[in-house]
Amino acid sequence: MKILVINCGSSSLKYQVFDMDREEVLAKGLAERIGIKDSRLKHEVSSGQKVVIEQDLNDHIEAIQLVLKTLTDSKHGVLKDISEINAVGHRVAHGGPNFSSSVVITEDVKKEIRELFELAPLHNPANLQGIEAMEKLLPGVKQVAVFDTAFHQTMPPCAYLYGIPYEYYEKYKIRKYGFHGTSHKYVAQRAGEILGKPWEQLKIITCHLGNGASISAIKDGKSLENTMGFTPLEGVIMGTRSGNIDPSIVTFIMEKEGMSIEEINNFLNKKCGVLGVSGISSDFRDLEAACAQGNRRAQLAIEMFIYDVKLRIGAYTSILGGLDVLVFTAGLGENGIEVRRDICKDMEFFGIKIDEEKNKVRGKEAIISRDGEPVKVLVIPTNEELMIARDTKELVAR
Ligand code: ADP
Repeated sequence: MKILVINCGSSSLKYQVFDMDREEVLAKGLAERIGIKDSRLKHEVSSGQKVVIEQDLNDHIEAIQLVLKTLTDSKHGVLKDISEINAVGHRVAHGGPNFSSSVVITEDVKKEIRELFELAPLHNPANLQGIEAMEKLLPGVKQVAVFDTAFHQTMPPCAYLYGIPYEYYEKYKIRKYGFHGTSHKYVAQRAGEILGKPWEQLKIITCHLGNGASISAIKDGKSLENTMGFTPLEGVIMGTRSGNIDPSIVTFIMEKEGMSIEEINNFLNKKCGVLGVSGISSDFRDLEAACAQGNRRAQLAIEMFIYDVKLRIGAYTSILGGLDVLVFTAGLGENGIEVRRDICKDMEFFGIKIDEEKNKVRGKEAIISRDGEPVKVLVIPTNEELMIARDTKELVAR
């Protein structure tokens, strides 16, 4: 069975083609700058051969047309014909309160994704565009939606409600949803496999530390908590997002700086985080380089991030009633040797102690805790695309 996995952003489209009989990636790529000048497609086949195609892509339909053409191209293709694609899996950012698992896409599902536009204005419209473009280009092929929020639907009401009048939850669906669910679930399951124990029997904290960062508490194979909230703006300080701040700061800044709702939204999402604090970059590689040259604010930004993650690990250990496994994933979690070391520093109280030699690993699976320590600390590269392909395979086989 061949499955195409699609992850649509507002001006980009990532894809992977899986042969699900062997869970093997046949090809993957990225269409960039859709609807903007100088758009292009970067395509790579499993043998490592790469190609960049410069072509105007006015919308997602044109981008998907080019993806399908490239996938069946005699030189760079991996399929004889697009009819080999048995199903398409889509990453959808926001599933709201009604989707607790992946679903086959129907008219009703699309309607619901559309109704959730106001909760995820940057992501859900792009996701739906990708779905509708696929329907046009591959009519009759089953499509599946895999939601970033679905895994967190097991959070109890005491975790997902905010301290605001209850009718706002009923009227506007204001509650914590949590994000990066596909990634948290994948690495938690994988941790169980690596450790040779059912993941449902482990108390797990998963740290997805990328440009966007979120942390989850997982017990009995269920998400109990996630640092992200109503939107992906809540939680730990991130690359460009503020994470948690006193809500009064929002109105205070709006008044002082004369910002509109749109401007403050843009500010909190794009100009804050470690970028705002350091004044240098949202990328930890730049911050670490600046820090090594004695830049105080770069150092401060890194310290704030580490402090924030440590706080959540402590809080989540109390919610879980102990801890068996701590997982690091995503760009920084997989590659940030110093960041992992500093997060785990002075955590012996919780049974967390890493082995500095074992921690010298980037981008591959490893157990980095010292032998014999109660908490196993793991680095696991995330694989959201594989999770989407697995769910798609399972749902279309029913
Ligand atoms: P997203 O998918 O949220 O855009 P990623 O998961 O790709 O983000 O993570 C990107 C971040 O990972 C970068 O901003 C950078 O801070 C961090 N990162 C990637 N590689 C390294 C590295 N070798 N050392 C330190 N940090 C890294």
